[in-house]
Amino acid sequence: MTDASGLPNFSRRSLLASLAAAPALTVAAGPVAAQTATERWAEQAQAALKDAKGTKLVMLGTAAGPVPGRSRQMTSHVMLSNGAAYVLDCGLGVTNQYARTGIPFSALRSIFITHHHADHNIEYGPLLVIGWIQGLKTVRAYGPPPLKQMTEDFLRAYKTTIDFWAEDLKMKPLGMFDVGEVSAAGPVMQDDNVKVSAIIVQHPPVTPALGYRFDFHDRSIAFSGDTTPLDAVAQMAKGADVLVHEAMYVPAVEAYVRAQVAQGRPVSVEAFMAHMKADHSPVEDVGRIAEDAGVKTLVLSHLTPAIDSISDDTWRAPAAKTFKGEIVVAHDLMVL
Ligand SMILES: [Zn+2]
Ligand SMILES: [Zn+2]
Repeated sequence: MTDASGLPNFSRRSLLASLAAAPALTVAAGPVAAQTATERWAEQAQAALKDAKGTKLVMLGTAAGPVPGRSRQMTSHVMLSNGAAYVLDCGLGVTNQYARTGIPFSALRSIFITHHHADHNIEYGPLLVIGWIQGLKTVRAYGPPPLKQMTEDFLRAYKTTIDFWAEDLKMKPLGMFDVGEVSAAGPVMQDDNVKVSAIIVQHPPVTPALGYRFDFHDRSIAFSGDTTPLDAVAQMAKGADVLVHEAMYVPAVEAYVRAQVAQGRPVSVEAFMAHMKADHSPVEDVGRIAEDAGVKTLVLSHLTPAIDSISDDTWRAPAAKTFKGEIVVAHDLMVL
């Protein structure tokens, strides 16, 4: 529910306000300029991955919420290690963003889902089907129940489509594969590149909602998933190189809901903010968790609200009060 809170209205208003206040050059920056920015990020990502030594993390989508039409895509990531790709979360946009990295679909080995909100899972099935056409080999998926049932149901729903392509292109049809359901903290999987473990995080009413830690040979990367500030996340991320944590900028969320109330939306500011705080992490708390965990780098992502008018410095400052390591404000297609 939280993720469906209607933040795009605020986003659009802010964008219009910032455009109105901007000089002529910026006003001209429409979809064409946005496309160029995406292409530029894609080129940088491809270059960084081509020369990569060791494990790399690509932030594919960095926005909170199932809101289409923004410059940031919904949440997804890919980690590339020894030529094998591991996708975490499949918000809308994951397939295009994955393709933009230049990582071949044949490299995709495993998919992990943190929880069953649409901004984390809605493009899980399409990634499989498009990936299959583009050369996906054996894949495994992990996530909360009922992921197995969801996978079977999706493949059944798209059987006709899959069969047409299989017949036409003489391909082996995309069939059911191993799905590991994760409903408790502990080890999830291990292969020759990585050991993955999960924790239960707090994101009511979604249960279970997961955080993950990926221990590669050369790097450890932890993900909070969607959660309130939680000591369990700090414990999971202890000593990791990178913690990717969701982040909410409370003053902007409050401004949004006040504007909504002023327009007649039947909700109280206090009730709405209590609801947001029961599900998500204010960015100042995220700094404390990163400091407790002792990570080298904190990546702020799943940004709420995901609007371009909040500067990186504005995002970074509240976390920097308590966290003394490196703080990165995630952007789509950023390679870390
Ligand atoms: Zn979310
Ligand atoms: Zn969520």
